[in-house]
Amino acid sequence: MVETCALTINDHGALNLASINRRPSFHQLSLPAKRSASLAFTAFVPTCNLRLSSASLVQGKVACIVKESAFLGSSILEHHKSQFNAPVLRTKRESNHSVGVVKAQTTAVAAPGLNQSTVHGKKVLRKGVVVITGASSGLGLAAAKALAETEKWHVVMACRDFLKAEKAAQSAGMAKENYSIMHLDLASLDSVRQFVHGFRQSGRPLDVLVCNAAIYRPTARTPTYTADGYEMSVGVNHLGHFLLANMLLDDLKKSDYPSRRLIILGSITGNTNTLAGNVPPKAGLGDLRGLAGGLDGRNSSAMIDGGAFDGAKAYKDSKICNMLTMQELHRRFHEDTGITFASLYPGCIATTGLFREHIPLFRLLFPPFQKFVTKGFVSEDESGKRLAQVVGDTSLSKSGVYWSWNKNSASFENQLSEEASDAVKAQKLWEISEKMVGLA
Ligand code: NDP
Repeated sequence: MVETCALTINDHGALNLASINRRPSFHQLSLPAKRSASLAFTAFVPTCNLRLSSASLVQGKVACIVKESAFLGSSILEHHKSQFNAPVLRTKRESNHSVGVVKAQTTAVAAPGLNQSTVHGKKVLRKGVVVITGASSGLGLAAAKALAETEKWHVVMACRDFLKAEKAAQSAGMAKENYSIMHLDLASLDSVRQFVHGFRQSGRPLDVLVCNAAIYRPTARTPTYTADGYEMSVGVNHLGHFLLANMLLDDLKKSDYPSRRLIILGSITGNTNTLAGNVPPKAGLGDLRGLAGGLDGRNSSAMIDGGAFDGAKAYKDSKICNMLTMQELHRRFHEDTGITFASLYPGCIATTGLFREHIPLFRLLFPPFQKFVTKGFVSEDESGKRLAQVVGDTSLSKSGVYWSWNKNSASFENQLSEEASDAVKAQKLWEISEKMVGLA
């Protein structure tokens, strides 16, 4: 697992260490000298407390002792002395379970610069930086892997479970220099704000944002709610991403990367102009009365259209919101910023964790049904390549498009249903959502 921390030295010589991708972990030390500096580093292992037991400034260098106090509940005796003078640091902790020891080592790594660098007199494009939410499994992980393998992208895996994400990245064989993990729980708007703050502290530019994470609760009989009191499927899939996308727009605008993109995953199930979109319960936002009422199940319905709760419909509704939001972003910002806004249906990836809450029989039969009956089955690897195309392929740079792929895996601009392309509804959804996430 990777923890990114901001290490700052203020004018009074105090050194602050603040976790920027986990809930508060704050340490302060006094330094003998006065100087302003800002450093960031990355550490492994979720359950241990990183402590700098001492730090000093010597000829512009920060000398510190990194000390572990706990790993998986055990006390750790080893500590590691390190010296660094680079503005961005990566601290690795390697765990050895058999002896219960965690070693910390600190090596300087450069965050990607904002400009192109020159190698042998030729201009070389720096690595693009892409943030992918929900990259700990399924499509997000497959896309992260596909992008990392090109060596042209640094993937920031924005995930709610650090350890799961780290294990997933390792088992996917992703090279450490091609990814980092930052904490993001879309079920909490506060966590979204902390993520944005932490990302900015990391010093990385933002070139592409992929709003991929989602939950699907088809068998839920009663609603559950986010930390802010909104029905969970819409809260995570739409509102959390809505705030994230709005906050990170400024960062995308600042990027000097040739093609800046903001991608929000859509779905065939939210489009009633397809066969799959007509499988009941059908998606439908109605006049948005439930959303306008707060989607809290107390003062209003937990469903956007104000109807009775239905877990499968809540997911489909959230996907309409995703596709409407992408188009509204395009209308509001594409012309002025040049940012490409896109959505996609990657195909039916019947094996992912999305179906984890479905009944066991469905989970058993759904993949062969998709493979042999509908023939709409797409492997996680293939879907990851499709999403990677939308992230970086020059032929998919058109804005406002909902991409799909045909049986030969060739991309095409797909048609959205009447409701999923309703500009008036998109504007109304935008205005209500802005209020719900505290932007208006
Ligand atoms: P997975 O369940 O495999 O992946 C979903 C990801 O979202 C996981 O990494 C999960 O984290 C993360 N996540 C869930 N809740 C939160 C939260 N509160 N905060 C942060 N992250 C969260 O599903 P898929 O890969 O199939 O789905 C990815 C996207 O693709 C979704 O937007 C889905 O709608 C879309 N899609 C999927 C299709 C399919 O057939 N599978 C078809 C069409 C679209 P964790 O690992 O911690 O659970």
